[in-house]
Amino acid sequence: MERTLCIIKPDAVSAGNVGNIIAHIQKEGFRILAMRMTTLSKKSASKFYEVHQGRPFYDSLVEFMSSGPCVPIALEKDNAIAEWRRVIGSTDPAEAAAGTIRKLYAKNKGENAVHGSDSVENGLREIAFFFTEGELADLA
Ligand code: GDP
Repeated sequence: MERTLCIIKPDAVSAGNVGNIIAHIQKEGFRILAMRMTTLSKKSASKFYEVHQGRPFYDSLVEFMSSGPCVPIALEKDNAIAEWRRVIGSTDPAEAAAGTIRKLYAKNKGENAVHGSDSVENGLREIAFFFTEGELADLA
């Protein structure tokens, strides 16, 4: 079993798509280990995305991710990293495959509805950013 972090981003929360996105998670057979709604401070959003520091979109990404509530969700499934990235689609909704979450719900390349971890190591680090080990469900 592998773990990944989903974040339902502020654009999708404010558009009322939390339930739709959770339905994709469940239909695709992911197990939800932990979930909450929270509003990131600029400081936490900067920290979460620090790997992108220096990229041209960094400031707008931090601004956007701290602009309203988001819903971090720790997910588990075989091959969860690749599977979740398949379900969410390409970063830019214009390039995302039909039926993917970003194709269905993203506004643009920046406000793109959901986050997905890009490696096993980052998935574990990102889950630990939002949740303590004790908050993760033991579903075995
Ligand atoms: P992801 O792994 O598909 O989320 O994409 P990246 O790791 O490349 O980028 C992280 C996040 O930064 C993306 O999900 C977008 O929210 C944002 N982002 C990436 N590229 C751009 C861009 O060219 N313009 C803007 N405005 N935001 C971007």
